[in-house]
Amino acid sequence: MNLHGQSLVAGKTVSGSGETFTATNPATGEMLPVPFHKATADDVNAAMSAAETAFAEARKLPGERFAVLLEKIAEEILALGPDLIARGMAETGLPEARLVGERARTVGQLKMFAALVREGSWVDAVIETADPNRQPLPKPDVRRMLRPLGPIVVFGAGNFPFAFGACGGDTASALAAGNPVVVKSHTGHPGTNELFAHAVVAALKTCDLPAGLFSLLQGPGATVGQALVKHPATQAVGFTGSKRAGRILFDLAAARPVPIPVYAEMGSLNPLVILPGALSERSEKIATGLAQSITLGVGQFCTKPGLVFVLETTAAGEFVERLAKQLSATPAATMLDLGIRKSFCEATAGFAKIPGVKRVVANEPSGFAGASPLLFETDSATWRREAALREEAFGPAAMVIRCRDVEDLKTTLRFAGGNLTATIHHGASDNAADVRSLADLLEQQSGRVIFDGFPTGVEVCHAMVHGGPYPATSAPLTTSVGTLAIRRFARPVCFQNVPQDFLPVELRNANERKIWRIVNGQLTKENA
Ligand code: NAP
Repeated sequence: MNLHGQSLVAGKTVSGSGETFTATNPATGEMLPVPFHKATADDVNAAMSAAETAFAEARKLPGERFAVLLEKIAEEILALGPDLIARGMAETGLPEARLVGERARTVGQLKMFAALVREGSWVDAVIETADPNRQPLPKPDVRRMLRPLGPIVVFGAGNFPFAFGACGGDTASALAAGNPVVVKSHTGHPGTNELFAHAVVAALKTCDLPAGLFSLLQGPGATVGQALVKHPATQAVGFTGSKRAGRILFDLAAARPVPIPVYAEMGSLNPLVILPGALSERSEKIATGLAQSITLGVGQFCTKPGLVFVLETTAAGEFVERLAKQLSATPAATMLDLGIRKSFCEATAGFAKIPGVKRVVANEPSGFAGASPLLFETDSATWRREAALREEAFGPAAMVIRCRDVEDLKTTLRFAGGNLTATIHHGASDNAADVRSLADLLEQQSGRVIFDGFPTGVEVCHAMVHGGPYPATSAPLTTSVGTLAIRRFARPVCFQNVPQDFLPVELRNANERKIWRIVNGQLTKENA
């Protein structure tokens, strides 16, 4: 499919400002074909106004229409065939197998939300029928359910061009809840995003749904992105990316005359604790798994384990040697772009300069945007003292922190802050009370606690939480992966004494959709 390099507003191309930018192949430095036109303030207005108009119509439609839409988008993505993979590879340097896998995940997410919406119980319907005889006052008829918010602005991530891209998890969950979506296309992979936008436009047409349910704007975050967040029609923002940009957008949204929620998934250090019992049972196995997890996707995973906590023992020293050997043997690979490589090099060069920090693996960067794995080691007191060591180095690097004993480990872990994940490796000889209290501590600081595994690889399922306390996210009450993500884009509305004909179908006495509801305190599929 040919790219046109323009933004798409409600299915139509817009001409933009006349200023253009190009995508670069991070493996070669080659400028890729097709200049992309930066959207203007008028384009932002047009996209948001089309979204508002589409919402007025779409909010009356049954969930089934959105289920069919999501399935159709999945089909259209697959129909893009090798063009999508080829453009994705050229724009991001990610290998074919990774992108083929990520496409399967993207399609799977869309289908998962289609199934959720078709089943229907996600709306969380609760019905309390009236009791006119209640004393001292009659009880009114009160019913509630989740309803869509309105136009949602989505910022995709640079490191997951498909699964967190224009048709990624945020778009899927926002559409599933019945909202229009306006995507601020990531400038790292504008052609990939355009291809995804073509898939959505085609699906909307086939499903005979309003074209304004989806727009994609090309251009920088600092102008186009911020204008979208400030636009009065925008009701919420889904963001995946750096802490710096996420925080700017969060503050901007809070400063609007009408503040709106920003669901920002940002950076994470992902602490991983290895207890002596685990090392005595399987030191080599953990070293192999950890090296793979640190270097997966050239370390450009928000769930990369960046902090490794061990107790000061001989076995821990041997483990660090094993890990260092594995990392040294991992070849250099291409990072997403020169900017990310530069940030990675600056952050890690900064670590190396801090007294008390030892560089255990010191590979040199190579290729146009290539990077090699790095490993650092320090003691708990140094790590607690130096705030710079707690900044994310987005890339294939990790820091081993040696703690004196379990109490020192607990004290030190508290400095790890909010994280997407926290992992603990334990063995039969470890004290169960210690394991329990460490796990409890990790739970308070993360969205997902993992035992005896590695945090990279996020299962897309109903029970997943890809979230966590700040700074991992700006909204720790929710997740950006898994079906719970739909709740970010819906709000509970209560209907009091509303006649049956005027109620949403999910709240009427007759349970036409046969969904699970709570009726007068009982979970049931029966009529009210
Ligand atoms: P990024 O630089 O924050 O970019 C993300 C989006 O924000 C892009 O669309 C970007 O626009 C926009 N943006 C950047 N600066 C902005 C500003 N001043 N105002 C408004 N918008 C702005 O992040 P990235 O390069 O995509 O990804 C790397 C980072 O993402 C890492 O730190 C990683 O930890 C994090 N990440 C987190 C998760 C998670 O789930 N927590 C997942 C993946 C990645 P442009 O297109 O103009 O750059």
